[in-house]
Amino acid sequence: MLATNGDITMSDRNNLRDSAQEQAEIEDKPRASRIDIEWGAINAFRELLRVASRGNMSHSTYQSAIEFGGSVYPDLLGEDRSLLRRARESRLTTEYRQKAGAKQQLGEDVTALQLAEEELSEIENLINASEFGEANALRRKKADLLESINELDPPDAIEHTLIFRDVNHADRNLPSIRTEHNFREFKLPDDNVLRITLYHPSVPEHISGADLMYEVHDIKAKTVNVVFIQYKIWHERTMYLSDPRMNAQLEKMREHTCKAGLCKNDTVEYRFPYCASFLRPTDKLQSADQSLRSTGEHLPICRIAECTTLGPKGGAKLEYNGIKKTSLAYDVFEVMFNRKRIGSRALSYTELGEIYEKFQLLRERDRLLIHAQDFTPLLPETGDNESN
Ligand SMILES: [Zn+2]
Repeated sequence: MLATNGDITMSDRNNLRDSAQEQAEIEDKPRASRIDIEWGAINAFRELLRVASRGNMSHSTYQSAIEFGGSVYPDLLGEDRSLLRRARESRLTTEYRQKAGAKQQLGEDVTALQLAEEELSEIENLINASEFGEANALRRKKADLLESINELDPPDAIEHTLIFRDVNHADRNLPSIRTEHNFREFKLPDDNVLRITLYHPSVPEHISGADLMYEVHDIKAKTVNVVFIQYKIWHERTMYLSDPRMNAQLEKMREHTCKAGLCKNDTVEYRFPYCASFLRPTDKLQSADQSLRSTGEHLPICRIAECTTLGPKGGAKLEYNGIKKTSLAYDVFEVMFNRKRIGSRALSYTELGEIYEKFQLLRERDRLLIHAQDFTPLLPETGDNESN
């Protein structure tokens, strides 16, 4: 991302300026918990996988979302960083990770998997040497070790069901928000390519929420259909609309997508009249080891007002029962978007460029933005990167 030859480039300067500004902007803001941050991101990654795999359920489990998120954003969802990931591992696995980490600190070149495998072979030798019926505890230990080894080195079928294969970047003629930003590209099951660029504060703890911007391109025609989704944690399926900052964020989205006419339908084609932006309330996780689940309703941002009810003290709020007559469930959302019945109309690259410009100016710097561009490459992909 940055120049490595010691010269300070324009993009270095921009980055330095950005991080100073970021620091200033995040001061004094209430912090989201690490669990909320990871959970919002996992929901966004899961949605991305669902849309990109055209609704394939086994490609879009929470586990796939964690694996995929960990591969594109290791600082947030990597094995050694993620709280939610850790909470899903056995204690023994965590112990081996910590042992390996400590040994690496001491200069020893060893992995958690190697340590577990060494112990397994020792235990197996001891079991073989024991009299029948005298090694129950050792057999239990062996079972635990096998489970741990499975966690540390998942069989391919599980580990990479989802994880679309990395491809080498080629010249794409794709517009981008900021040219100097790093991206990754993956080959999708239908041979489309998915380019992913992440924008986020430099410290994951500073993230206040997640947004997904998903684009489906027609590179030849130079047009794009785009949808924005804002993920917000709600409590007991209720979201109070009293936080001025959150209301400002939602209003901004509405201003630049729906109000700007991105979901306006001028053709006779049958489609829903809205919408290019959606609010996706996400159930709060109470603890890291809780099972992962959430309601998956997508509420069009320009329909929020009509779904809002007032609490006993007059506070405006959204509730599950109040939104579900208007909102789209996660599976309906995916099908509708992939069939272009929702999301923006087809926009020209000039219009897309204008959206990018606005987003650069208006984007909340403390939010994670996952920018996904899905397209059929002009030439068939040849340079698959086998290392991944
Ligand atoms: Zn709309």
